[in-house]
Amino acid sequence: MIWPEVDAMLKASKGHLFAISFPFKKWLACVLATLSFSALSAQIQNPPVRVIAFGAHPDDCDLGAGGLAAKYAALGDRVKFVSLTNGDAGHQSQHGQELAYRRRAEALEAGRRLGIEYEVLDNHDGKLLPTLEVREQIIREIRQWRAEIVIAPRPNDYHPDHRYTGVLVQDASYMVIVPSLVTDTPALSRNPVFLYYSDRFTRPQPFRADIVVSIDDVYEKKINMLDAHVSQFYEWLPWTTGELEQVPKDPAERKKWLGERPMAERTLQPEWREALEKRYGSQAGRIQHAEAFEITEYGRQPNEEEIRRLFPFFPETVSRP
Ligand SMILES: [Zn+2]
Repeated sequence: MIWPEVDAMLKASKGHLFAISFPFKKWLACVLATLSFSALSAQIQNPPVRVIAFGAHPDDCDLGAGGLAAKYAALGDRVKFVSLTNGDAGHQSQHGQELAYRRRAEALEAGRRLGIEYEVLDNHDGKLLPTLEVREQIIREIRQWRAEIVIAPRPNDYHPDHRYTGVLVQDASYMVIVPSLVTDTPALSRNPVFLYYSDRFTRPQPFRADIVVSIDDVYEKKINMLDAHVSQFYEWLPWTTGELEQVPKDPAERKKWLGERPMAERTLQPEWREALEKRYGSQAGRIQHAEAFEITEYGRQPNEEEIRRLFPFFPETVSRP
């Protein structure tokens, strides 16, 4: 809000303010203007962090960084999830366009629940290849979002779509600043910080937890986001593990069931404790849910000050146990 708006607001509320004295109106206008100015200058000094996360399928980003995204969204930072495939192979009885429509709708609902953007690209599920065409799609996405942080899987994974998503984002990680490439979308002036989601693969080297964020305060939001992917968490994935019969029929009951399920590699791992203690000190022992990320070698390497700015979730002062 700025001066002309304050003036207009006072004029608009004339009928209600006629009994208020002129000096009071001036004072009120001054207070409102000062507050607006402080909010504006705070926004200029601390512009929103802009984060883009890539997954192969329309639930991958949610599993790896749903909690982190919820924390950014709560602070007014900007997050976008992008699925590189439309998920049209991930179901036991639905296929093709019918399934792609359903999964896109689920992803958009998941994004709506968290207050973030969600885009599903129309590449086929189970058939993703590290082509120049898809690399350029990724370069455009990162540039258009003016991303400071880019998150993707490591290129070591059991699923070829996950593996190639890792390769494709790695391949884009320097090209986003090269102006003579993908000339329809202006290049970034600075390379973003590139992160990997956590995983449990050990060859050729295991995941390294550089940044571990407690998501205890947003765990329910993350489950609420996952709950939007009905075709996956209540149909396809339980079918693949022979647990379909265990899924409760009632929507509230099945969400509770989902929240209580251990999500394998996504649960807090003992080897993340050191990184947690570095950031949370004596509070670390009480943390139950967390998400971990590795800083890749190919993007900008943030110093401690920049880590504090990009991840504004850690306590200012840390008391040691
Ligand atoms: Zn996937």
